[in-house]
Amino acid sequence: MINEELWQSVLSEMELQVSRANFLTWLKNSRLVENSDEYITIALPNHFAKEWVETKYDKLILGSVRNFITSVKKVEYVVEGGLVKASITHKVRQVLNDKQLAIEEFKVDPETNLNPRYNLNSFVVGSSNELAYSAATAVVQSIGSKYNPLFIYGGVGLGKTHLIQGMGNEIKNLHKNKVKVKYVTSEKFTNDVVTAIRNRRGDDIKNTYRNIDVLIIDDIQFIGGKEKTEEEFFHTFNALHENNKQIIISSDRPPKAIPILEERLRSRFEAGLIADISLPDYETRVAIIKNKTQERGAALDNESIDLIAKRVQKNIREIEGVLNKIVFYQTSYQKPISIGQVEKIISELAERSRANINPNQVIKAVASFFEIAANDLTGKSRNKEFIEARQITMYLLRDMLDMSYPYIANKIGKRDHTTVIYACKKLSKDLDKNQPLIDKFTAIREMINKMG
Ligand code: ADP
Ligand code: MG
Repeated sequence: MINEELWQSVLSEMELQVSRANFLTWLKNSRLVENSDEYITIALPNHFAKEWVETKYDKLILGSVRNFITSVKKVEYVVEGGLVKASITHKVRQVLNDKQLAIEEFKVDPETNLNPRYNLNSFVVGSSNELAYSAATAVVQSIGSKYNPLFIYGGVGLGKTHLIQGMGNEIKNLHKNKVKVKYVTSEKFTNDVVTAIRNRRGDDIKNTYRNIDVLIIDDIQFIGGKEKTEEEFFHTFNALHENNKQIIISSDRPPKAIPILEERLRSRFEAGLIADISLPDYETRVAIIKNKTQERGAALDNESIDLIAKRVQKNIREIEGVLNKIVFYQTSYQKPISIGQVEKIISELAERSRANINPNQVIKAVASFFEIAANDLTGKSRNKEFIEARQITMYLLRDMLDMSYPYIANKIGKRDHTTVIYACKKLSKDLDKNQPLIDKFTAIREMINKMG
């Protein structure tokens, strides 16, 4: 068997044994470089991948290789020097906007409220979320009968929403839409209760929530202390549970730590399986960075990956924020990013999360700088001054808040997202050389930061 064939066969086996995300991140870009009777040598694109594969997958790989060549006793791993760096320039050229948009433009399914962007395959598993992940897959395989409810808790930006929505999407796919899945935030549930009460239509809640097979409720901690909502949820919970319908709950803390939660609800939550998601360790952060970089069709050298993993530790959403900016940079300038730039992006992000800015503040600041009304900014007028102000707003929303193009487009007067892409690209080029524009930006940023 020639090397390439052998390795492809091994990889196909591996693909079945590790999660898709891990396979794509760690194994897909490997190569068999040497094959003697007793040992084989596998090349990986960088030392992270080498260490990871060696520690995590060596047994699996050896086992699989021996299925084909029984005499092999050992697998050796080497780094294929320069492979990653060399491919960066080439890859950056391929980073076209459409690739990035493909990630952002997923549409929420109005039936289930699920966003197809979230799936279990793209969920990177490490020691921090292993338990939650395996509980999730167990529940997906046997809805209503295994762990009911499944209660997942953990801090902000650690993947709760991703995991529970991913479960919903997976269940939907497995059962070809025959199973009725519904995802709601606890705020949405509360709103529904309030509306039903106001309209004196108490049955509305029953009709909406009791004929579903899988109820996914996100951020349940917010119902604590809302008596009527808690009561409605208690009845909904019981009705579903009695009929072996699956309930999946997320929270930023365990049931016993949710303040003013009725005892009867607390004990219901505790009756199923409770799994936590904790802070990801360094290796998991590296895996996530690699995965997300690949998802965005971009490339990043090891030094940058290492820097991000070391500096952004507490929130995966912030890691994504850094990556979005890097991709934006690489797309705009058509060149790989320097480690200095990466450092700058990370520092800016740390500053921004302290500042706590919201989009309306950005709109207000730009409007007041140009002495125009916020309505003019979001309106349709083609007046030259308005156009400039609008473009600056779009750029700042993207740059300071990492908002998606479609979101910005909608926020700034329901425009087409390509208008936003155009504005951001144009300004990021102009900002290189146009001093008056740079001065405007400095002034506006200052105004925004004062508001924050
Ligand atoms: P939470 O609901 O816990 O605040 P999210 O589920 O919204 O967090 O996650 C924040 C972001 O980080 C999302 O874009 C999500 O896709 C990503 N993310 C979190 N955990 C993981 C993971 N293990 N693998 C891949 N992406 C993740
Ligand atoms: Mg969430």
